[in-house]
Amino acid sequence: MPSLRTQVGIVGAGPAGLLLGHLLHLNGIDSVIVENRSRDYVIDRVRAGVLEQGTVDLLNAMGVGAGLQRAGLRHEGLYVSFNGRRHRVDFAELTGGKAITVYGQNEVVRDLIEARTATARALYFDAEDVSVDAIDSSSPILRFRHDGVDREVRCDFIAGCDGFHGICRPSIPPAVLAVYERAYPFGWLGILAEAPPSSDELVYTYHERGFALFSMRSPRITRLYLQVPPDEPIGNWSDDAIWEEMLERMTTRDGWQPNIGRIIQKSVTPMRSFVAAPMRYGRLFLAGDAAHIVPPTGAKGLNLAASDVLVLARALKAYYERDRREWLDEYSDICLRRVWKAQRFSWWMTSTLHRFSDESAFDYQRQIADLDYLTGSQAAMTSLAEQYVGLPAEVSFESAGLPAAAQAVPTT
Ligand SMILES: Cc1cc2nc3c(=O)[nH]c(=O)nc-3n(C[C@H](O)[C@H](O)[C@H](O)COP(=O)(O)OP(=O)(O)OC[C@H]3O[C@@H](n4cnc5c(N)ncnc54)[C@H](O)[C@@H]3O)c2cc1C
Repeated sequence: MPSLRTQVGIVGAGPAGLLLGHLLHLNGIDSVIVENRSRDYVIDRVRAGVLEQGTVDLLNAMGVGAGLQRAGLRHEGLYVSFNGRRHRVDFAELTGGKAITVYGQNEVVRDLIEARTATARALYFDAEDVSVDAIDSSSPILRFRHDGVDREVRCDFIAGCDGFHGICRPSIPPAVLAVYERAYPFGWLGILAEAPPSSDELVYTYHERGFALFSMRSPRITRLYLQVPPDEPIGNWSDDAIWEEMLERMTTRDGWQPNIGRIIQKSVTPMRSFVAAPMRYGRLFLAGDAAHIVPPTGAKGLNLAASDVLVLARALKAYYERDRREWLDEYSDICLRRVWKAQRFSWWMTSTLHRFSDESAFDYQRQIADLDYLTGSQAAMTSLAEQYVGLPAEVSFESAGLPAAAQAVPTT
């Protein structure tokens, strides 16, 4: 069996794994990334699109922001729509100039795969039977089969960046992990449509028929979501039925509505809040969706993955350069503080903007009053804005080996 040796074995080539691999590379730390899907599958997977200010700064500081600067859509606000009226929340004014950028997760992943390939460090796609072993020893092992050959990688550390359904979290003894979970009684039906976006900014709609979200991926592609039952078969929704429901929920009294176009992708995603703690066991460190899931309403999942790996990269750099272990020991606690704040925000956005099946007419009016207060109060809008653009980073770029000047958002 070919046996390899690396400093950090990384399971998963999603945003967390690829970002970590590149951060380590920039610090001269070797890694092997192992992904069980194909390169095309990973790049074509349609998911997140909203990047916090800190995530944008991080990608730029890492030297992988060229595509983002060329094609990312900077948004300095969003709209909250209810009772047929849109109300703008001005991020830039409320947060001292911060913004979010809309840039598809698949583009982020494509940019990072190109950067990884240019480093010539190991990245295996289509790996089979991926497993980790000896994670509580000083030399954990990553095993997989590639091109019909069984491989074994001896590592100093393993990063479990393999998403919610990966193998790393289940490799931790169940008695060690506390799991906190909430499932929501609805999902999102999401579509990509060939239609120029009819608004420059996102529109979050609360409607008596349920939540709807208007967003975009590019000047030619609109991305829309509808609240539906959690196990709704996508086959129940013809394209005509989707457009009819989108327009019913989103059209405002001034006549604003999304432009209609050919639907090029549609799917239903269940909504879940999930945290597994601690995010470390022995020499296995979980990062991103492998450790936590947020409902997409707050647009935090990809951003949390980025902040986890920044914290982990800092700790690994300190270990290799100065034999400092305390930042490895503190990794889970530092990440979980941000994770829980993002959980709280995502839960609040979800609860405020969706209809629950057990709601009474009282609850509906209370939710309308919540939104009326939110969009009429400078204090409430500031709270939404500062969380949406992203709370201060947990660690400085400088401590993770990146240029300090690139970090516009201060650390906590
Ligand atoms: C519809 C939708 C909309 C979203 N919108 C937003 C948004 O606007 N903003 C935001 O920040 N977040 C959003 N998210 C969340 C975001 O997509 C995730 O949080 C993000 O993908 C997490 O990155 P990750 O690298 O941790 O996990 P993943 O992206 O899941 O990557 C994990 C990788 O590991 C691989 N893998 C799995 N098992 C194995 C194995 N056994 N061996 C090897 N490899 C394995 C997977 O194939 C995958 O490539 C959204 C999610 C969805 C579903």
